[in-house]
Parts: sequence; C-alpha cells; structure tokens
Amino acid sequence: MHRTLGIDLGTTNSVVAWMKDGAPEVLPVANDRFSMPSAVGVTEDGGLLVGQEALRWLDRDSARVVTSVKRFMGRKFGEAAVQEALGRMGDAAAHLSEGGDGGILVRLGPHHYTPVQISAIILRRLKTDVEARLGVVFDRAVITAPAYFGERQLAATRAAGELAGLHVVRVLVEPTSAALAHGLTRPQDAAPATFVVYDLGGGTFDVSVLNTAPGYLDVMALGGDNLLGGTDFDDLLAGSLKERWRTGGGRHPQAPQDYVPAPSDDIRLRRAAEQAKIRLSGEATTDVTVSPLGMDGATLEQQVDRKSFEELIADHIAKTVGHTSDALSRIDHLPEDVSQVLLVGGSSSIPLVRGKLSELFGEDRLRTDIDPMFCVALGAAVQSALLEELTCPECHVVSPIDADACHGCEAPLVGAATVDCPRCHVPAPAGSPACQVCTDDLSGLAPPPLKATVVECSRCGEENPAAAMLCTLCEEPLPGFAGLKCPGCGMVNSAGLSACSHCDREFAVSTPLEVTALPFGIQQKDGTLRVLVEAGESYPTDWHVKDFQLTGHKGDMLEILLREGDLQPAHLNDLCASHTYEIEEDIAGTRSLVIRARLNSDRIIDLEFRIDNADWHAVKLNRNPLTSKFRSRVLNVHRDYVTYLANWQHDLEQAEVRQLEETEQKLRALLAGGSTSGTLDHLLDDARRRREQQDSVRWASALSALYPRYVPHLMSAADLATMRNNNADIRAARKEGDLQVAHTIAEEVIALKDQLGDDLYRTVSALASASQGRVSSALGRRILQVGNLLKEAADSGNTAARDAAISRMVDLHKEAARELQQQDAPERQTIRPEGING
Ligand code: ADP
Ligand code: MG
Repeated sequence: MHRTLGIDLGTTNSVVAWMKDGAPEVLPVANDRFSMPSAVGVTEDGGLLVGQEALRWLDRDSARVVTSVKRFMGRKFGEAAVQEALGRMGDAAAHLSEGGDGGILVRLGPHHYTPVQISAIILRRLKTDVEARLGVVFDRAVITAPAYFGERQLAATRAAGELAGLHVVRVLVEPTSAALAHGLTRPQDAAPATFVVYDLGGGTFDVSVLNTAPGYLDVMALGGDNLLGGTDFDDLLAGSLKERWRTGGGRHPQAPQDYVPAPSDDIRLRRAAEQAKIRLSGEATTDVTVSPLGMDGATLEQQVDRKSFEELIADHIAKTVGHTSDALSRIDHLPEDVSQVLLVGGSSSIPLVRGKLSELFGEDRLRTDIDPMFCVALGAAVQSALLEELTCPECHVVSPIDADACHGCEAPLVGAATVDCPRCHVPAPAGSPACQVCTDDLSGLAPPPLKATVVECSRCGEENPAAAMLCTLCEEPLPGFAGLKCPGCGMVNSAGLSACSHCDREFAVSTPLEVTALPFGIQQKDGTLRVLVEAGESYPTDWHVKDFQLTGHKGDMLEILLREGDLQPAHLNDLCASHTYEIEEDIAGTRSLVIRARLNSDRIIDLEFRIDNADWHAVKLNRNPLTSKFRSRVLNVHRDYVTYLANWQHDLEQAEVRQLEETEQKLRALLAGGSTSGTLDHLLDDARRRREQQDSVRWASALSALYPRYVPHLMSAADLATMRNNNADIRAARKEGDLQVAHTIAEEVIALKDQLGDDLYRTVSALASASQGRVSSALGRRILQVGNLLKEAADSGNTAARDAAISRMVDLHKEAARELQQQDAPERQTIRPEGING
C-alpha cells in the first residue's frame, strides 16, 4: 500500500493535501505556509529557488525566475493561446522560446527547461517538503488540471508528476475536484442537481457548470478568461497607489519631484498591492507602506479602502459574472436552476465577488465554507481515498490499488526513486547515467535518505512505524492510507471503499463518472476528421469500432493522427496523439482497415487496428506529437532512409547498413514521440548529409569497379591505376564503416569520372546495365555489339570508328535509362486511413 498526495498544481500557487482520519487535510509546505507559489528560479551561482524564495528573487533578477508555467504545459509555441499569453507577459516573455519539437522552452540561467521539467521541479519540492515534515514517503499523487485541458496538456501534467517521482494515479479536473471537496458527488438516493464552480485564481478565471446524479458527474459547460485573475487586480491597485503618491492624492507625503524609479520598484509596489488586496477581503481599510522607492529612497504611504479598490476592479468582476451567465445560457439554464455555487480560487475571497454572485444566484446558494484556496487540493485528496484500482499506463491492465506493480506487465505503479541533477536541478530516475537537460553525470547519485518518523494512531495513540498502513495495535487506517470516515459509525475506512466496512453504510461521496469535454477522431486521407469518441461520453467507454480502408503496399508507413475537437477539416483541431506503423502485411492496393478506440478510466486513449483480417495491433500512442511543420520534415527524411535501405541494401556493407538503420530508428523514434538530445535541425541536417554521403560512396565504389572492367582500353594507364587503387581503398573503408574516409575517396573518383567526360561515363553505364541484365535482352544485345566495335576501334587505334561507336553508345544509354526508370521500385509512401464511401 502506498501513500498518495492530492496536489493542486496551480498557475499561481500549488497546494498539497492528504487524507487524515477520514477527512482531507491541507499540508503545510515551505516555511509553514499552506500554499507554495508555482515559481522556479536559479541564482547566479546555479542554486535552485522554488516558491516564495523564487518570487523574492524577482526583485533582484527577473530573468532568472519563471512563474505561471502551467499556461504552457503540453502546448506548442505557435498556438494562439501561447502567443496571447506571451503578449501579456512583457519582459518575462523573453525567457521563452520555441523548442526543437515546436514546444516551449524556458531559459533560466544557462539551461533550457520544458514546462514539464519546471513543473516537475515544483512537484518535487512539494513532495520532498511534506515527506521531510511528516517522515513518511508519498510515492503516488492525484494531480488536478483545468477542465479545458486537452489530451496533450493532461499527458504533460502526468509526465511532470512521474518525473518528480510520483506515480500519478489520476489527473482530476479542477471543478470535479472542488465538487468532491464539497461532498457533491451524489450518494445513491439524491436527486440530480446543477452546480456552478466559479474559480477565480491569480491569472485565470474558469467557470464550469456541473450536473450530478447518483454516481455521476458531468461537466456540462465551460467558460472563462485565461488571462484574467488576481494579478490584474494587483496591477490596478498598484497603479492607483502610485498615481496618488505621484500627484499628492490622499493625506500622505507626495513622491519627491525628482523621483527616479529603481528597477525593482514596480515589482515591490505590486507585491505590496497584493498584500493590501488580500487584507481588504477581511478589513474595510488598510495601510500600505513601501520603502525605499527610487534612487533616493523615498517612501510611499497610503491608505486604501475596500470601496475604492472595488471600484477599480468592478469591470473585471462584472466580466466574470458575465462569463458565468453565458456558460449557463449556452446550455439553456437560468441562475434559478443552479442549486449551489462553489467558490474556488484565492480571488473568489474578494467580497465584491461574493456580492455580485449573491445578486445573481442568491446568497444562500454560495458555498464558502471551504477555503477557496484549498478546495481543489482537498478534493484531490478525497479522490485518492476513493480509488479502488489503478490502470497501468503501459499496458492498461487494471490492478488493485495496493499493487506495487501492474498485474499485466509488471510496470511499477509507484513513483520511481528519484535524484535531482546537482547542476540544473531537473529530477531524473535514480540510476540514470546523465541528466537529460544538462548532460551532467548523474551516476552514483542516490536519493537522499528520509528521516522516517513514527505515525501516531488517532484512535488508540499507538506509535507506528512510518511504513505501516494500519495501526499495529487497533488496526485503524493510519494517516495517508485512510479512506473516508463513515458518517454512520464514525469508523475510518481503508482507501478505496465506497461503503463502510464496519456498518455497510454508503459514503456521501463516490468516484464520479466524468465525461469528455471534446470528441476525438482520426484524420482521414482526404483531410476530414472522423470522430471516434463523441463529446460528453462518460469514461471508461466501450470500444468504438470504425471501418476505414487504406491504399498502399507492404513497407508503406501508415500514419494515424488523433485529433481532439470536431472542426472540419481535421487539421483545425488539436493534434493530441499520433502513431506511425510500417505495414508488415503483404498487401497491395486497397484493403480494409478497422480501427477501434476507447477511453479507459484514467482518460488514456487505447487504440487498436487491424488490416484485412490479420491480427489486431495494439498501439502505443505518442502523446507529444511533433507539430505538422516538424513532422513533415522528419517524415521526409525518414521516408528517404526507408526507401534507400529497401533499394540499396544488397549493395551496402554490413557496417553501412547498421549505421543507416541506426539513424532510421532515431527518426522513427522521433515520429513516435521520442526526443532528441540535440536540436531537431541538427539531427535532420546530419541525417540528410550522411545519407547523401553514403549514396555518393556507393556510387563511386561502383564506378571505380566499372571503369577498369568495361573501358580500360579507353583510359590512360595512370587513370586506370588511380581508379583501381581508389576502388581497393574505398572498399576497405566501407567494410570498416568509415564513412568519412570512404567519402573523401568517393570525391576523388567522381572528380576523375568528370574529367574523363560524360560520353565515357554513359558508355560505362550502358555496358554495365547490359552485362548485368538490367535492360531488355534486345537492347542488351545492341549495347554489347557496339561495345565490341568500340573495343576493336580502340585496340586498332581507329579514332573515327571509335568516336562513331561512342556516339551510338550515348544514344543506347538514353534508351537504357528510359527502361531503367520504368523499373524503379515504387517509392515508399506515408498513407492515412481513408473513409469508406469517399
Ligand atoms: P491559481 O489557481 O491561479 O494558482 P490561487 O487560487 O492560488 O490561483 O489564487 C491566487 C490569487 O488569489 C492571487 O492573485 C492572490 O493574490 C489571490 N488571493 C489569495 N487570497 C486572497 C484573499 N483573501 N482576497 C483576495 N485575493 C486573494
Ligand atoms: Mg487554481
């Protein structure tokens, strides 16, 4: 059995909770605060800063701190949402650039990090902090994510957790989590009801309308504004404070006439404004003092009252209320239809928010009993208490919750022992030879030992060892392993139960069935999208089977692109996963292709297909597909390799085939979602160059054998000797697999061939195709006849006859080239599933 953390990995703040004595409890992190800013920084000497300490570093060097990285999780640089967020970030956007795979890279000091790596650093700090505090290990987590996150963002969230050394047992959507915290997933006998989750955080506003029925929870409508939140209020208040200070408003001293702002003034003013804003949620007036300001150490002292603050932010709040009404009207609901409104997110503590929502819904429907800052994390902890089984992320077999490893494939179901790179701080599985970010040597690093403490039983007070799951004396579930407390008999149950193991009473909350926000489907050959799983389906779903067809040959690459959305043509939708399969079936022409897909309980897509009636292929989907721009570049080079190997394998040395296959596999891995250690440009340029060099080596090798064989009588003794020597050298280099040396010799051979002239080359080429039987026998005979004439003329020194024979040979070469062209092996193609009936 393993302890599980509930984690709200927020844009602004992250919060951690666990189950203690049958109820969720928020855990203090970093210096006894109950939330940690989602900020990461790196000092000049490479030290890591996380949370509050990173935020404080902003004053000193804002280029070394990154915040709000959640906005970029699982996204591509070119996406509109990313560009819009960057537009709003001002100088802070200078950190961010496009990565080799079209994703986003964050630069902190000398290193570039992905949003997943930054999030993993945050999660890692949360995990190690609570472990050190409690003296117990948490190797699993339920992590929350916004309801509008698509497949790629959810997969990135999961990846961050795994990188941090946590097995992510569920990625739970935030409104559902809030509903769980409020106990709103209905017990068996309750009537259906509609709830609004109003979540106003630091930089985002999300509203969701939920519908619940017994054992069921449906996110019916989503709305909001990704770029509106508490920081906007801080900016407005800071601006107003500064304005009054500069113009002498208020009773307090005015800014000095010669005030020259210092670089950190704005950041410190905004921070003071944020603190004042928070105080104004509980007090009618508050004082703000910021000192020293400017180069000469001036002081700002102002008083703000709630009323004037609310006037500043009134338009913003009105907008959020507008989004809330819009979300309801989109599903033809009126505010009266809503039975409860859950307030979530730090900014929903602002009294004006509560006032405006009361006007719309009535005060009695607002749920403010759980602190809005902690609601989402608490729900994640509740979810951890409700899970009975786990789906394996590798093979999708379901195992009981207490399994250490998958019952199907033995993949671990607990987080990996993890070390932190001492140079760039990105976590890595213990035993990794080198850091994936900075390539620092990680061998020999071991995870820091945990100072395990005793865990006290809340029922009998017995002190249990840290690893114990049930009290060794009274068998009460211990904190962190606990399920829910029975509302009837008060017993704390083990995790994973939906009814009390003592008195059989059903719990008031149950794991809700969630539904998909968007449909997903397959991009067809004609560019249209064929939906596989519809929006609004609860999951796990059954297998959805769809008939397609494909037109191609053995060896072609079948490309399956999964897109999330319902727009036509398909490319307008988010590419959420892909799979490339080299057709092994011996087919030619049009065949039937059956694809089936389902969403498993953890919203992971299972996909299988079969061609004709051959075996089903289970697909491991690539969850980080390349953007189409990069994808088509990789595909082109990859196709080139596959075709080249198919056409020339018999002409190549073993060492050469091995090298080409190695690159081909790298390119294939990239298409399947692997990453490159260097940049993609570098990899592709290198692959292209090596392929071209290999081809000229193969060609020059053949030439240096063919000239001495077919036209020795037409060459000088010195040229003949050079060709022969080159041939021996190039063959030796090729056997060794030394492409560089072989290529240098190849260039010499080709230079000599150029020097000997095109006509001689055509003669050699025609004679070679005739002798090797590569042209029709009629043409072959004619070529060989002219070849004999040519030899006779050369031997007898008859230059006129020799020239006439060469010119006939040039014509025959043209004919041979035409014949050969028709025989070229068909190029290997990338094909896509075709819809049936067009
Ligand atoms: P996120 O979901 O974006 O991580 P949070 O839910 O943690 O955001 O909310 C953070 C925001 O809430 C910050 O802008 C903070 O200033 C604001 N906030 C926190 N407490 C209060 C309060 N009592 N009154 C007003 N605003 C608050
Ligand atoms: Mg939040």
